[in-house]
Amino acid sequence: MEPKIVIAHRGASGYLPEHTMESKIMAHGMGVDFIEQDLVLSKDNVPIVIHDIYLNNVTNVATIFPDKKREDNRFYVIDFTFEELKQLTVFERFDPKTGKQVYPNRFSKRTSNFKLHSLQEEIEVIQELNEKTGKNIGIYPEIKGPAFHQKEGKDISKIVLDILSNYGYNSKNNNCILQCFDASELKRIRTELQSELFLVQLIEHPQETEQLKDYASYADGIGPWYKLLIKDSKSGKIEYSNLVTKAHQLGLKVHAYTLRADDVEDYTGFNDMMNSLFFEAKIDGAFTDFPDIVVQYLTQ
Ligand code: CA
Repeated sequence: MEPKIVIAHRGASGYLPEHTMESKIMAHGMGVDFIEQDLVLSKDNVPIVIHDIYLNNVTNVATIFPDKKREDNRFYVIDFTFEELKQLTVFERFDPKTGKQVYPNRFSKRTSNFKLHSLQEEIEVIQELNEKTGKNIGIYPEIKGPAFHQKEGKDISKIVLDILSNYGYNSKNNNCILQCFDASELKRIRTELQSELFLVQLIEHPQETEQLKDYASYADGIGPWYKLLIKDSKSGKIEYSNLVTKAHQLGLKVHAYTLRADDVEDYTGFNDMMNSLFFEAKIDGAFTDFPDIVVQYLTQ
């Protein structure tokens, strides 16, 4: 059996605010296979490692640049230069309306001084740590909102692919997996932009599970929300659909998201969740906020 892979979802985000360099370094120390980078462009075309196209839910932007919000009351990454973004402080994800953390038991300190950073900065830290520790931990970048970027006059995929190439990530052997929810964009990355990277098509809606053949024509894997694998859980015992089997028949790897020790919903506990998804649903890898627990589980 091929080894199953662990992807640090936004870093070791169960322990430190998501996508901070600190959370990435912690994940590296935990011995994961890949560290994830969600990417959104700044005004001056720097790929920023952040999950949302706006800044409201993880930074103090509303206090630092109150005048830069759009009519929908949101502050968009794309309206700020990299230098301006560097002035913001990053916090554990919260609801801007109430100020309450999404995961109340996660990193609580507001006195810390976490910062946003670029894709280049993160790659340099990971590559340096790989060299110093003798590890070969990969990167797993995600192109966020390609249609939104296009509307703003920016080709995010082209910019990201050029940077990846500059850092030696060109082919399937380079320990880099590129992911996107937008199927037409991922297809364009393979065809028009001629990328030879390992590509993963993310899926979140049930109807997308019907498109596997199309995905297999350009992608190497799928990244489904784990709930899409569940056929039935009413009887207390979870039954899985044949999605993973079908994907495997088409040569697609399956990396499911997101395994959270503090949010196990359909399962009796985190061990049950890991056991069930890796060995009953037979996924090939998983995105997790708690990489240390999953790495340790799979090592046993
Ligand atoms: Ca992501």
